[in-house]
Amino acid sequence: MIAPGATIGIIGGGQLGRMLSMAAANLGYRCAIYAPEPSGPAADVSARWVQGDYEDVDALKAFAHSVDVITYEFENIPVAPLEALLTPLAPHPRALATAQDRATEKAFVQAIGGRPAPWAVVSSREDLDAAIELIGTPAILKTRRFGYDGKGQARLKAAPDADEAWAAIGWQPAVLEGFVNFEREFSLLVVRGQDGAVATWDPVLNVHEDGILALSTVPAALSPETVAAAKTLAERIVAELDYVGVLGIEYFDTAAGPIFNEMAPRVHNSGHWTIEGAVTSQFENHIRAVCGLPLGSTARAAPRVEMRNLIGDQAGDWDMILSDPAAHLHLYGKGQARPGRKMGHVTKLFFE
Ligand code: AMP
Repeated sequence: MIAPGATIGIIGGGQLGRMLSMAAANLGYRCAIYAPEPSGPAADVSARWVQGDYEDVDALKAFAHSVDVITYEFENIPVAPLEALLTPLAPHPRALATAQDRATEKAFVQAIGGRPAPWAVVSSREDLDAAIELIGTPAILKTRRFGYDGKGQARLKAAPDADEAWAAIGWQPAVLEGFVNFEREFSLLVVRGQDGAVATWDPVLNVHEDGILALSTVPAALSPETVAAAKTLAERIVAELDYVGVLGIEYFDTAAGPIFNEMAPRVHNSGHWTIEGAVTSQFENHIRAVCGLPLGSTARAAPRVEMRNLIGDQAGDWDMILSDPAAHLHLYGKGQARPGRKMGHVTKLFFE
């Protein structure tokens, strides 16, 4: 167990690192951030910021030496340098390796009984033709690595779109996914402690705009069978990976049950509602898990909770948002409000 008073190293210094640092501080820990940028949202609320490249093994080792335990808030970190560190690290880098590659991730989920959309590996233009033949259209071509918020994706309405789609994703190794006619999108956040204890928060209904999460609400109005299937897969994933910490899983809800979309081995944007809306937030439970403390209750704190992301200019409405006394406003301290940039979020709890 890493007792309060110790220093937690967080790799990545964005808003997730910021909210993790705040939760850690509540439990009496200090956080040190390691990130390639000179500063970031986590800088204002952490004890130390170390600027270093994710591939700089020596700098990472020096950082690891200066902290008691390490976690990460960003999944596109090279795995090998992390594996060279001797300081305790959670979640295990094998979770990163699995989630960083869409093909590895889907094969893993399928092997443990989960159901992704029909998919095929595309390593060349010829593969794309074969994949279209196999899966049909409409379909989505996604880069295997480094995709997020709908980036690195191209939609194909029909086979003649293949050239354009292949060019649009930069001729990179990819997967072709069948288009899922989903009724809604939801996510499930799961946490696993060092002792193997597992807890899930209520599934979250998510609405995306331009591929970016806009609105999350709980409860998600899903059938009990769908919730049970989503939970079972989540529990299998964390058990199979011997996972420690919070993991976010995105699903499509269909008439035939939940379809696995993707997972993130870290705290997740669709779990921000848990800060005020659950007995224990995803951030606090992640810190508890990483430090080997008992997990806190994941029960919902209100009959209905809503979390809205503030994207780009929307954060400029902070004064109007605060005119609602029930609104919990979170701003991430990012300077420039560029289009598509997550600047903050607002959570509201509803009691009737
Ligand atoms: P992703 O980055 O893979 O989560 O994709 C971003 C968004 O694109 C998702 O949240 C969905 O709204 C949509 N999307 C992704 N994959 C599919 C699919 N196979 N079928 C239908 N919509 C999809």
